[in-house]
Amino acid sequence: MKDRVWFNPSTPNSHLLLCKSLCFESVYQFREALRDFHIRTLRSFHYHRNSPTRIIVWCSQREHGCEFYMCASRIAHERTVCIKKCNMEHICPSSAENTKVTTKWLAKAVEPSLRADPRAPVDALIKNSKVKFVVDVSRSVAYRARRKAIKVVQGDQKEQYYRLRDYLQAVIDANPGSRCIVTTFEDLENPAPTPRFKYMFYCLHASKEGFLNGCRPFIATGRDGNNNIYPIAFGVVDKEDGDSWRWFLTQLRCCIGSGSKFGTYTIISNTQKGLLKAINEVFPDSPQRFCLRQIYANFQFAGFRAAELKKLVDKASYSFTKHGHELGMTLLKAECEGAWKWLDKIPKDTWCRYAMDYNCKTDLVVNNLSEVFNKMILDVRAKPIRRMFEGIRTKQMIKRQKTREKIEYSRWMITPNYSEKLEENKKYAKYCEAHKAGPDIWQVSSGEK
Ligand SMILES: [Zn+2]
Repeated sequence: MKDRVWFNPSTPNSHLLLCKSLCFESVYQFREALRDFHIRTLRSFHYHRNSPTRIIVWCSQREHGCEFYMCASRIAHERTVCIKKCNMEHICPSSAENTKVTTKWLAKAVEPSLRADPRAPVDALIKNSKVKFVVDVSRSVAYRARRKAIKVVQGDQKEQYYRLRDYLQAVIDANPGSRCIVTTFEDLENPAPTPRFKYMFYCLHASKEGFLNGCRPFIATGRDGNNNIYPIAFGVVDKEDGDSWRWFLTQLRCCIGSGSKFGTYTIISNTQKGLLKAINEVFPDSPQRFCLRQIYANFQFAGFRAAELKKLVDKASYSFTKHGHELGMTLLKAECEGAWKWLDKIPKDTWCRYAMDYNCKTDLVVNNLSEVFNKMILDVRAKPIRRMFEGIRTKQMIKRQKTREKIEYSRWMITPNYSEKLEENKKYAKYCEAHKAGPDIWQVSSGEK
């Protein structure tokens, strides 16, 4: 007996494989391949004969002279179906309208795009099918196909949770010194055969070392020496509340301690109640800052909406001197006493530059870093959990390598953004007067312009 050639449906463009003597594992696989061939070549067929043991297919345009046909039959005592005779060439015109697109076929076709973005709407799927396969799909077919494909994709999402511990172990094996933890719980109200996911924490050794040795002791999403964001650790939690924040921060402290060689960490956050409390508990010595944008949002929510007021809040926050701050506050009081009262209650060192701690060497008052971070992970955050973490890890790795390359070309010990600032400020240095006052100490007066 000749060696059999088997049809492999996962080959790209597998519809081009169909030929005489090709074997299929079942009649169902053969029928699926037949349909796929016709949708992709935009032709139509009909079964001249269709039984479990013998199938004869003709072109729908046979009476107009198209001689396409296929004869397939089941091999005795097997499920195998084999193409016995065929003429694969359609001489009839192709047409996007007559193709037999089924829900099943479409579900398979749109699976890759749903995997990339499970939120892709039906319209996008219709458009994609049109571009990719030139087929016209009705909304109802597309809708059902989407639902079918989502089930498969989400099934895979579930599947990835089962392998999470294996995955994390692989990360630890490849990156010794990393901290990767997943916790589970038993849901007594909804008993399940396997434990349920609760929290996950993920800090790569390289991220930790880079943060401890190269970054200022300032945590939001972390900030590197060049004022770019520097992700230290990631977490996934079932819900955001005081408990999950406390757990995450505790894991973080296990990795990076409560301070680096540059000092105690300063932590900037949004003013969510649960988070603030958790920071106080886990990092009790850390100076805290509140995001000014968040403060201002609450300020507006409290009823103070005039544009004039915002200017004064900014003035009070951004001023580097106590005098400047007080000037802003006095003007605010004159403008609206209620607003002043509201704002005056917030501890100054959390939102006014003049009163902030300076060990962390950043005068940042807004926490928009987390938005930058969210943007960075936008394309991977909807993926199944393992792929999401792999995506984030890969992004970090690529970014770190780019930084390495940039450093090769940097001229000095100072980071590029700051050397640029320094150059800019040197222009004004000519107006300054410096007198040496002792070893390593100078008296500098700003002079007249
Ligand atoms: Zn034909």
